[in-house]
Amino acid sequence: MNARKVQITQWVCEKCAGRYWGETLAEECCAQRPCCGCGIVMDGHFPNGNGQSQCYSCREKSRLERAKKMTLYEFYSGDRMMERHGEFYTDANTLVQHFIDYADEGGVPERYAWVCAPEAWKPSLELWIEQSLEQHLDLVGGRHPDGHFDSLIDLKEITAKFQIWMEEQPQFKVYLAGSTAVDLAITWAFWIDELREINAVIPEWLSAAVEADNGET
Ligand SMILES: [Zn+2]
Ligand SMILES: [Zn+2]
Repeated sequence: MNARKVQITQWVCEKCAGRYWGETLAEECCAQRPCCGCGIVMDGHFPNGNGQSQCYSCREKSRLERAKKMTLYEFYSGDRMMERHGEFYTDANTLVQHFIDYADEGGVPERYAWVCAPEAWKPSLELWIEQSLEQHLDLVGGRHPDGHFDSLIDLKEITAKFQIWMEEQPQFKVYLAGSTAVDLAITWAFWIDELREINAVIPEWLSAAVEADNGET
């Protein structure tokens, strides 16, 4: 007899019925707590929450303080990319244009982006199974807290087959942000000089950005 029945336990957030494979994640899902850096109330959801003691902007701030800095001119696209808020940029011009558009729309120009190097990546068997089960759950039970996997038996056999299939898969290339940041300060200063040279109007945000950079260094 090869069949074995397995029961899969999931944790459900009482507030939003979000499902998790771990109790802590479900506990943190809709939990609210103050950021230990600036005190703003964070909910448990991305990007602030999930057990974090500091809010996203406080974490970014200290990450940037610790980061190795690189100027835009030192950054060459090669096989690297720059990342900002989940957007990827292969070349410096596109990134600068993005910041300029953003500032023109009244946003505060930002001063850095994270350098991402390519890394070989293969999804893990656990991840595949987890995601397949998630999808299965969505199909059969939606997000209802009473949905369960009672009907799902003999995971062992499919796991073994899956393992073989996984090993045959090629590696993917993913771009992961490291601890180096492209600092745009020098770029802004360069732009101001360029604009002065051609007697162009220097946007207010650009003067402010350069002033702020000078003040900090
Ligand atoms: Zn929740
Ligand atoms: Zn904070």
